[in-house]
Amino acid sequence: MLRLHGHSISVVGAGIVFILIALKSAPVRAARPDYPEIRTVNISEPVRIVRDFNLSQLKAIKEKADPSMARPLYGFYIHALKIKLETIKGKPFLYIGLVDRKIEVARDLDGGQCLFDNVVTHYRKHADAAENLLEQETADISRHFAIAWKQNPTSAVGHQGSLIIRDELNAFARKQRLLERHIDSREELDGLYKSDCHV
Ligand SMILES: [Zn+2]
Repeated sequence: MLRLHGHSISVVGAGIVFILIALKSAPVRAARPDYPEIRTVNISEPVRIVRDFNLSQLKAIKEKADPSMARPLYGFYIHALKIKLETIKGKPFLYIGLVDRKIEVARDLDGGQCLFDNVVTHYRKHADAAENLLEQETADISRHFAIAWKQNPTSAVGHQGSLIIRDELNAFARKQRLLERHIDSREELDGLYKSDCHV
């Protein structure tokens, strides 16, 4: 019994060795992905600093967005993520980027230039994080389109493409929220709100 058991184990062992050899030689063939390369065009725009709202308007925005937030809102960073797949001369092109990018700073901030600079510096961190995230995600988004393109080019720029865009926008927003929470550490916000600019 024991021997038999031992024997069957060694057979399994031999099988595993065989599979390992097969896996080891696989990367040579798998090096080229089985879908077309998509040319990516970055359509990101620079961040503009705007002063469209005063503190009481920002207060109303804050209360609508997050009533639990105790601190006053001095500004915010906002963008739109634009994703579009297009066929040009039979080849797929992915246009992707952050557009309509704005750092809003309250028009009537106390503390003058010093506080203004601090607010811009803070929201610049949000803008940079979004840029880095886009850089990280672009290859993955491009791959999803490439797979769809291989299956059906017409649908990849049509129905299937719009489903991919919806999913990617949701995923990007979710990841961005995590990054924002990370930036808005207690230390960071204490520094912003208790800055020397107020005196
Ligand atoms: Zn923040």
